[in-house]
Amino acid sequence: MTVNTVDTKPCEYCSGVGYFQLLLGGSETCSSCEGTGQQMKDEN
Ligand SMILES: [Zn+2]
Repeated sequence: MTVNTVDTKPCEYCSGVGYFQLLLGGSETCSSCEGTGQQMKDEN
């Protein structure tokens, strides 16, 4: 079966997880993808 994939790619900043793992513990939401883990189709 073919999955109808959206034209998005994993965020290169957070590797598609949507957040950064902090060394001191916890996590911070990726400001690039705003936690979605996917790069915006924004060509900006
Ligand atoms: Zn991201």
